[in-house]
Amino acid sequence: MEIKITRNPNPGVKPEPSVLGFGKYFTDHMFMMDYSAEEGWHDARIVPFGPLMLHPACTALHYGSEIFEGLKAYRRADGKVQLFRPIENIRRMNRSAERLCLPTVPEELAMEVLTKFISFEQDWTPSAPGTSLYIRPFMFGNDETLGVHAVKHATFVIITSPVGSYYKEGINPVKIMIEADDVRAVRGGTGEAKCGGNYAASNRAGEKAEKAGYSQVLWLDGVERKYIEEVGAMNVMFKIDGEVVTPALLGSILPGITRKSCLELLRAEGYRVSERRLSIDELAKALEEGKLEEAWGCGTAAVISPIGELCYMGKKYTINNGEIGEVTAHLYNSLTGIQWGTLPDTYGWTLPIED
Ligand SMILES: *Cc1c(COP(=O)(O)O)cnc(C)c1O
Repeated sequence: MEIKITRNPNPGVKPEPSVLGFGKYFTDHMFMMDYSAEEGWHDARIVPFGPLMLHPACTALHYGSEIFEGLKAYRRADGKVQLFRPIENIRRMNRSAERLCLPTVPEELAMEVLTKFISFEQDWTPSAPGTSLYIRPFMFGNDETLGVHAVKHATFVIITSPVGSYYKEGINPVKIMIEADDVRAVRGGTGEAKCGGNYAASNRAGEKAEKAGYSQVLWLDGVERKYIEEVGAMNVMFKIDGEVVTPALLGSILPGITRKSCLELLRAEGYRVSERRLSIDELAKALEEGKLEEAWGCGTAAVISPIGELCYMGKKYTINNGEIGEVTAHLYNSLTGIQWGTLPDTYGWTLPIED
């Protein structure tokens, strides 16, 4: 598909790596294309970054038909920029689209516009250690009527944001609050889709946890409120008595690409790994018996986040003396090594971007 380019007449100044943070700065351009039932995807364009014009009846604003993705471009030591498993993001976006009755984007088209846009904007990929260019593709229903139905119009956008190192003073264990009241998702709902609505419903518990001094919420299943699901924007893994255990994908959990990569790495290296249901009681028992050896979250933003403390119904549980464990550190080093190109990519996960 032809991509029409309109250059930004007022290019911005690239921020210093020390001020980057997450999602605060945006690059000079964004990618957009539109969908209609009659024309399919059309009008692919790279335009100056700026506000969107929306009809006040736009479907996304009233009925929440919005999905998104998150991936990063990494600058290698040789100066080249590369993506990590982007096809997985495209496939997940299309699964999310199906769940929310939004149009899918053919894989080849999605990969073409993504790689061309990142190639166009690649100078914005910072090179300081731990920094990257965060890529946020998103799609929303864009009918200009208040009727409730699967949309006939949608808009797909990609914005990019240079982001800082997640761990400025070394990789630090986080404290997590297990949420006993609100639930995030149930089987048959939208928990396995990456959609904005899931986050809107999560914020109340997140605020509560933050006020109590915890950085994120660990969700329990929505039916029995007994089984571990995932952390705010990360999947979760535990090492119990030598085995790595992570909740199985039963329909209410986001199928993370970092999760998938951890499992593939661990299995290839001969670790004992299981995807299954894991109850809060089993976890508490393992802790009391000294068998809960490590816990960590995994997601694109932080890659691997060691968990040093869990709090459930006011009771605090310290894990591994609040220190980073051996498998946690190994996963962090392996994944970041492949992503930034300091370790060989024997899995074929990286995709270099053309200059
Ligand atoms: C995006 C996300 C994750 C992590 O997925 P990655 O593909 O590893 O970045 C986990 N949980 C939720 C709710 C998410 O939105």
